[in-house]
Amino acid sequence: MFLGHMAVGLGAKKFAPRVSLGTLLLATQFIDLLWPIFLLLGIEHVRVEPGNTVVTPLKFLDYPYTHSLAGVLVWAVLFALIYFWFRQSRKGAVVLGGVVLSHWVLDLITHRPDLQLAPGVNAYFGWGLWNSFYGSLIVELAMFGLGIYYFLKTSRAKDKIGAIAFWALAFVLVGITMANYFGPPPPDNPKIIGEVGLAAWVFVMWGYWIDRHRVAR
Ligand SMILES: [Zn+2]
Repeated sequence: MFLGHMAVGLGAKKFAPRVSLGTLLLATQFIDLLWPIFLLLGIEHVRVEPGNTVVTPLKFLDYPYTHSLAGVLVWAVLFALIYFWFRQSRKGAVVLGGVVLSHWVLDLITHRPDLQLAPGVNAYFGWGLWNSFYGSLIVELAMFGLGIYYFLKTSRAKDKIGAIAFWALAFVLVGITMANYFGPPPPDNPKIIGEVGLAAWVFVMWGYWIDRHRVAR
């Protein structure tokens, strides 16, 4: 799930209007932004196996440090503490911690049972929404629509860039999602998958750029 995570980042603006969209997108994707680093270091492992689920061809062999429940809890607390350290906002820190944690909940709904309880613990979860192609697509698009709705209710453009950059991001995110759903699988090479995954940091920068050209309503 990619668009669904982005939707949470957008919608969370309603609960913490003073937190930059860049920070919200960093929080919602945080686990998936760390994952490529762990892949490239050879600590976590993935294979490409078309048909693994009808949506993603990625077979997550192991990713206990980024994607176990215990792992995500640690990252969420760490994220919230670091935000609090810099901004002294308890509300912002709590919302951001919740947004990091939401990643696991959404992955729990979508993944097949490959999400571990904790590193080294032999208990795996995943409710497998990804076994339904159109079910997954509809859920993601609906979430994204809702995320945009709440974001726009909370924030308005203060110049042209604030509107254009936002809608361009929305357009690109939907485009990537369509390519993921309808395009060919990636090559079965963790190095390439890791490098492509790292490119998602661009959306964090994009979020900061958008936020500088918008104000709270
Ligand atoms: Zn993930």
